[in-house]
Amino acid sequence: MKTKTQRQCGEVSKYRFEGCRCAVCTAAYTEYRKKYRPPVNPGFGVDKLPAKTLLDFVDAIDDKTIADALGIHLSRVRKWRTQNIGLHKFSADKYANRIGVHPSAIWGNDWYRIPFRDLEKD
Ligand SMILES: [Zn+2]
Repeated sequence: MKTKTQRQCGEVSKYRFEGCRCAVCTAAYTEYRKKYRPPVNPGFGVDKLPAKTLLDFVDAIDDKTIADALGIHLSRVRKWRTQNIGLHKFSADKYANRIGVHPSAIWGNDWYRIPFRDLEKD
């Protein structure tokens, strides 16, 4: 009679329940954990940054001043303020440049977490 399941290296249970920390088990467990990691910017996917954060950062007296500083139309500022808009990394970088700061000053570590693969505009 078989009393115990034989676990192979590379199975998550081998890492979790038998405490095996070999390279194969560790890699399998790391991969498994990734699935349960919360998204960097909930609601925006992994490659977008919230436009609202940018508006908060500029923190000007009115939306017209913000629009001028960012070089965009006033209607876009209002859209960013009222809707849950996410900026692609390329756009985020562009707007940060226009107000003379590095994007990480606005979005913090989220800027470094997202991949730089999407070059389309928001
Ligand atoms: Zn192992």
